Amino acid sequence: MYRQVVEQQKTCSLCWRTATRRGTFRVAGLDLCEECFGGRSIDALRSQRGFVIAEQTWEQGAHSTRWTEVSGEIPGRVGVSASFKVEGCFEKIGKLGARELQTGDSEFDDRVLITTADRERLAVLLRHDGLRMAILDLLYGDLSVEIDEQVVRVAYCHNWQDPPSRSEVVRGVAVMLHYLHSLMVVSGKDGPFR
Ligand SMILES: [Zn+2]
Repeated sequence: MYRQVVEQQKTCSLCWRTATRRGTFRVAGLDLCEECFGGRSIDALRSQRGFVIAEQTWEQGAHSTRWTEVSGEIPGRVGVSASFKVEGCFEKIGKLGARELQTGDSEFDDRVLITTADRERLAVLLRHDGLRMAILDLLYGDLSVEIDEQVVRVAYCHNWQDPPSRSEVVRGVAVMLHYLHSLMVVSGKDGPFR
């Protein structure tokens, strides 16, 4: 989901470069330039922000099913490991009676299934609207999103009925890195909430 805003001299929230005349694209509360929106700014994100995004594609199983994993790393730690996926009917039944982490954001709580061993710290991170928006934006079909301290990982299968596009996944991972970077653990305390 995105909204295009055509405005001269706008700076991209992700790569910090001035957007071209096509303007910016609003995704999960950020204004992205055309390159970041299209998942084509991996080099700029590395030089400007220190975000390292890598892609890996492999085949597995008897039918040579193709998978792609996009991972991204921030220069710092968030103090949390967790995974997120879209909550299906099966999971809804499975967790009846179990107390799940609630963020108070009904759209997020209804759609996202969270697995974590760092419940308290994660609850603090998920108070941040931008991070919740970034997770919701990235979760697509059967995708799952994994946060492992300084790393975000998303894997998808090309044989899924409706697989996500590479550009959506790279963009989504970059947006996640932006928010996690702003929530990093600084000297053992919670990072600045921007
Ligand atoms: Zn950009």
